Amino acid sequence: MIELSGITFIASYNCNAHCRHCFFDTSAAYSYMSPEIIERVYEDRSVLKKMFWNHISGGEVMLEPDSLYDIIRKIRTHFSGDIGISTNGFWANSPEIAERRIQELKDAGVSGIAVSSDTFHDEFIPCQNVANVVHALSQSGLTRHSYIMSTVCNNDVLHAQGYNLLSEKLAQKVTGDYPIPFAKPAIRSIGKGSLLNLPKKKIFSKHVACTELSECLGKRGPFNPAMVYVDVYGNIMICYGIIIGNIFKTPFAQIISNFSVNQHKLISNLARSPHSIYALAQKHKSGIPNKFYDVCDMCYLSRKSLREIYPKVLGPAECYP
Ligand code: SF4
Repeated sequence: MIELSGITFIASYNCNAHCRHCFFDTSAAYSYMSPEIIERVYEDRSVLKKMFWNHISGGEVMLEPDSLYDIIRKIRTHFSGDIGISTNGFWANSPEIAERRIQELKDAGVSGIAVSSDTFHDEFIPCQNVANVVHALSQSGLTRHSYIMSTVCNNDVLHAQGYNLLSEKLAQKVTGDYPIPFAKPAIRSIGKGSLLNLPKKKIFSKHVACTELSECLGKRGPFNPAMVYVDVYGNIMICYGIIIGNIFKTPFAQIISNFSVNQHKLISNLARSPHSIYALAQKHKSGIPNKFYDVCDMCYLSRKSLREIYPKVLGPAECYP
């Protein structure tokens, strides 16, 4: 059983940007979430009693504003808690457009907007567009759950100082005097982030557990999920690329209430330690790296190499760019 505090809906893996630190392959076949997925999640609320937040992210959620508004409105018919979205702000070509879109999001039922601003997004998204979003947000009253997401490199990462300095300058530029807070998550070694988190250091021992599950909710005990990701295909994931069920095959409430680390060999191995996934990968595959940046890196790269053997649990392809 997972005691859900929240759900992140991945409305699309597609994006108009292809940032070098992204979790996903954002240029795969195009798809956008149907409101039917929301209906299937909320059809039995017995597992949602403790939930207080929903978040909609991507890819880029504003690729289809009207579809996004439908999803938000659908969630709002079932859920009175906080609904946040993440966006890269590409759509805010002028202050007027920014204001209009943010008003539309507010009318649909959003309570907070996270907009990205860092050296990686800056390669694709004009800084002025992000500034337009920040300005409109500061006027919108949507300040409770709104923030600027400025991804940083850990200090021991190659070129970290350069990346972080540029991100800092960008952040000051887009914020101006507006009181919108910052979140500064570090690049995770999942997806493309694994390519950026260099140098690789070592193999992490079997005594090192997975503690980053649901990391956006803060450090938690080993393998103790408190949230799930629901993607555009109906996959339910406890970490990006680890599927515990699909709501087009099994009711959502059943997936959540029946969750156990023993439901699949891979998940029980992972719950023991990501090292055991590495050992499994070594057994099945040659050419597995022998050094990793952190335990998530070891977990992710080992999982990536095992995808063909466990396609039902290790997917979808967009989570293994
Ligand atoms: S990548 Fe692996 S080790 Fe890291 S949080 Fe996810 S499941 Fe845990």
